[in-house]
Amino acid sequence: MTERFGVSAGTLSLLGLSRARNRELPTTAHFMVGERCIHSCAFCAQARDSKAPPHHLSRVTWPEKLWDEIETPLSRAIAGGLVKRVCIQTVETPGGTESALQLTRKVRSLSPDVQISICVAPESVSRVEAFFRAGASRVGLPVDAVTPETYRRVKGGDLERAWAVLEKASSLWPGRISTHFICGLGETEEEMVLALDRARTLGITVALFAFTPVKGTLMEHDAPPDVSSYRRVQIAAYFLKTGGSKDNIEFRDGKIVRISTDDPAFLGKLWEGKPFETSGCPDCNRPYYNERPGRLMMNFPRSLTEKEVRECIAESGLFRG
Ligand code: SF4
Repeated sequence: MTERFGVSAGTLSLLGLSRARNRELPTTAHFMVGERCIHSCAFCAQARDSKAPPHHLSRVTWPEKLWDEIETPLSRAIAGGLVKRVCIQTVETPGGTESALQLTRKVRSLSPDVQISICVAPESVSRVEAFFRAGASRVGLPVDAVTPETYRRVKGGDLERAWAVLEKASSLWPGRISTHFICGLGETEEEMVLALDRARTLGITVALFAFTPVKGTLMEHDAPPDVSSYRRVQIAAYFLKTGGSKDNIEFRDGKIVRISTDDPAFLGKLWEGKPFETSGCPDCNRPYYNERPGRLMMNFPRSLTEKEVRECIAESGLFRG
């Protein structure tokens, strides 16, 4: 493989290829193939109409490297257990899918066991199949915006066409499909819960993101979601993920006002702070995708302290201790 591809700044630190000192290291190595997408999602630094500098995605910078520079450190980090998963983010560019397939094969050749996720737009089931054939363990098909209106406005396109790909893929590869939902694009908490429940019914793993305005994007001046709203959605997402029913979530004017449960397992995990940890594919902790170091953590890339758990639950306005 002769092309350069992006390696997230945190991954470079994890592989010992950067002197930057990170407070939190990723447990998944993130690579990005392609630059400047043919689509124009209003929140995305890689969008066609974005003026964000190249080598950016979300809040993260992705310096470019060659496979030859990465191969040995990645192999060592996998063998040493530092890298538990490799995720290849595929930007929609001509030839991008082929490059991502090549990179998938290269990573798989290093280890038959390492978990590999591919993150690619939900455009066709045949492309999902191609990634599984190349050695992917899971394929992430980001929906991002969860209502037809927000999807059309922010991504341009038809939400149900994306869901059709997710539905088919999740039936063909049960338990091996992930998706991304972004909170704060104009949906209500209730609409987000309905989407979470739809994904749960299909056996699709959801990674929750808080919308983060990135300079140079069409949404650079939009506000991120209110933290209390994000905490309620995180709790509801965890409740559903651990077997809770959406019928036990009560809404008023689209806002979650109560989650009725006395399930000791759920309540125990809630008071350990599990709902507030980064969600998605196992071991994908994505430090600083949605937050600046030392600032408010929307997703915690690690276990929370007792104080942090109390603060997050207080922010939600649910489950008073
Ligand atoms: S949850 Fe993480 S590992 Fe999974 S597809 Fe999304 S970014 Fe990649």
